[in-house]
Amino acid sequence: MTVKHTVSLHDDFDRRHLWHPYTSTHDPLPTYVVDSAEGAELVLSDGTRIIDGMSSWWCVIHGYNHPVLNEAISKQVKKMSHVMFGGLTHKPAIELGKLLLEILPPSMNHIFYADSGSVATEVAMKMAVQAQNNPKRTNFVTIRNGYHGDTWNAMSVCDPVTGMHGAFGPALPIRYFADAPECGFNDSWDEADFNSMQTIIEQHADEIAAVILEPIVQGAGGMRFYHPNYLKKLREICTKKGILLIFDEIATGFGRTGKLFAWEHAGVEPDIMLIGKALTGGYMTFSAVATSASVADKISSSDAKVMMHGPTFMANPLACSVALASTKLLLASPWQQRIKRIEEIMSGILPEAKKFPHVRNVRILGGIGVIEVEQYIDCGEFQKRCVKEGVWIRPFGHNAYIMPPYLAVSDSQVEQLSKALVKLVKELPCNR
Ligand SMILES: *Cc1c(COP(=O)(O)O)cnc(C)c1O
Repeated sequence: MTVKHTVSLHDDFDRRHLWHPYTSTHDPLPTYVVDSAEGAELVLSDGTRIIDGMSSWWCVIHGYNHPVLNEAISKQVKKMSHVMFGGLTHKPAIELGKLLLEILPPSMNHIFYADSGSVATEVAMKMAVQAQNNPKRTNFVTIRNGYHGDTWNAMSVCDPVTGMHGAFGPALPIRYFADAPECGFNDSWDEADFNSMQTIIEQHADEIAAVILEPIVQGAGGMRFYHPNYLKKLREICTKKGILLIFDEIATGFGRTGKLFAWEHAGVEPDIMLIGKALTGGYMTFSAVATSASVADKISSSDAKVMMHGPTFMANPLACSVALASTKLLLASPWQQRIKRIEEIMSGILPEAKKFPHVRNVRILGGIGVIEVEQYIDCGEFQKRCVKEGVWIRPFGHNAYIMPPYLAVSDSQVEQLSKALVKLVKELPCNR
């Protein structure tokens, strides 16, 4: 490979004029110009190849520039890139819907296509309020350390501290926050773990439309894995009290945790379920909200009679066709074995970090490996060192983690990512 040393890894216009996620215009985090990407590798503007440890935030499960997905989307472009979903429908939406209903929890019966994860959260919360059809039952309960997106209502159910929306404080609707579950995924179950949720529900059931949470894996609010029994208890009490249960599987869906969807670890079904991120294999922004026939029926029998939402780009054909191709590709692949193997490799390398004095915890589940440290990690500095090590990892808060594109990475790439993560964590400056 020829490396063009004259090409900068950074762009001055970008630095001066473009917002990036959660950055300051005064002191923006460094950004790296990506020229192309293939398989599990990103190719930077100077020719440097780095292994992607993030799957571009959970999405790119098949890797970049995948011939099957490329073909699905280009074929659709030549037919129609978009058509309104008001009064019209199309094959990609129908075929995708059929496939999703086969793989979603058996009670799911209706699908609402939305534009992004955050919008899916908004839609799900609107659905819950409409299904309750009771002006007193409009509030929500969630658990701390959660993350459900960046739009207004989604922000209101994110963790007020770690969920990145502390700045909005009193501008947000006030929700009920139960303590985050403390029992880890593999710990022995302690009934006391459910006390906080139990108390809130018992005290406020008549104001609550729904409980919303990420099943098993809490992603962007803390990268924590909790015990399946928590969801079993929650399902029981929600059913008893007439509260709807919303599972946000936007991050956990499509195999990441070792099951196709995370609810399967607990074997309890939600009333409303959200999927996004890996839905299109990372090709398009897209999401879907699934509900049971009972919820759909309640909405259609409510005062409003209809589901009150309908985005311009609803069921975009490019997004539907690439989602269909991506999901088929996933189901035809040996994804369980791949996730298992990746979990094994990470389990052989990451726990070494436990002996560093500043490491609080090492957690591994499915295709996710997390090292939590005492100090707050400086993301910009960390990433400079990542690029030198030939890997792409984006830490947040006290967590540095990898979740590679599981159907594209080789065993040796997972090893390199894991070893780099341990090394970078080992060398973290002490700044607590
Ligand atoms: C990323 C994420 C969202 C928000 O999705 P966007 O597409 O970024 O709007 C919502 N919920 C969970 C669990 C997520 O991980």
